[in-house]
Amino acid sequence: MRYASTSDFGYADLHIHSRFSDGVSSIKRILDHVEWQTSIDVIAITDHNTIKGSALAASLQDRYSFEIVVGEEISTRSGEIIGLFLTDEIERGLSVEKTIDLIHEQGGLAIAPHPFALSISVIGGVGIGFKNVRSLDLDGFEELNANPTTWYSNLLSKWLIRPLGGLARLGGSDAHTARSIGAAATAFKGKTAADLRHSIEMHETTPIKISSWFKQLLVSAGVIPGMALQARKFRNGTAEKSAVRAFFNEQLTKAVQGLGEAFGSNER
Ligand SMILES: [Zn+2]
Repeated sequence: MRYASTSDFGYADLHIHSRFSDGVSSIKRILDHVEWQTSIDVIAITDHNTIKGSALAASLQDRYSFEIVVGEEISTRSGEIIGLFLTDEIERGLSVEKTIDLIHEQGGLAIAPHPFALSISVIGGVGIGFKNVRSLDLDGFEELNANPTTWYSNLLSKWLIRPLGGLARLGGSDAHTARSIGAAATAFKGKTAADLRHSIEMHETTPIKISSWFKQLLVSAGVIPGMALQARKFRNGTAEKSAVRAFFNEQLTKAVQGLGEAFGSNER
């Protein structure tokens, strides 16, 4: 039997990658894992620049006891934005303002993942930065991202964005393997996706970390198969050489930093 939590609070992991972008796990593997190995109440699969996997997951909702929200991690010209409760895919490469507008137009919520994450390329984890978080019409920000390489973004988010108020505070695993799902999560009042939405809109959510060093290691190690996937795409000629090189540089840096961090302190 699936473990059912008895508290008044539900837990959501709203930042998960599948094989539809640079994750390792299939949609079925992710859903089965959440069902049988976790007590998470709501998930969103947020692949880079596609809702295909997320929509596939939502179409399988009947088979699972937790709720599935359609999401996408969109690469804008100024960093990444996560759209939740989406119905249509949003294309990459637009301005961050336009991307947020398109999310809201279809009734979605706009979240800034790892707001301070820096990157040497436009591919991979890039935050939109403090200025954008302050000035744009966001619904929430990721105060806690479980990828060990973004620890500085977590720290700055807590110090600089949290005191501003007016935004929901979220936690997400940024999992690239099924087993690292839930390494960080968002606690909300209630259990359902509708409850979650209400909690985000009321800014009542709390980021929580339920990660062991082992889970953090899995989050980091998830980038390695992602790199293999890029290499395959490159061989097939379905990716630009410069994009693949940039991706490799970044992922390698992430992996090395992440491994170091995973063996370091788990408390921040
Ligand atoms: Zn991500």
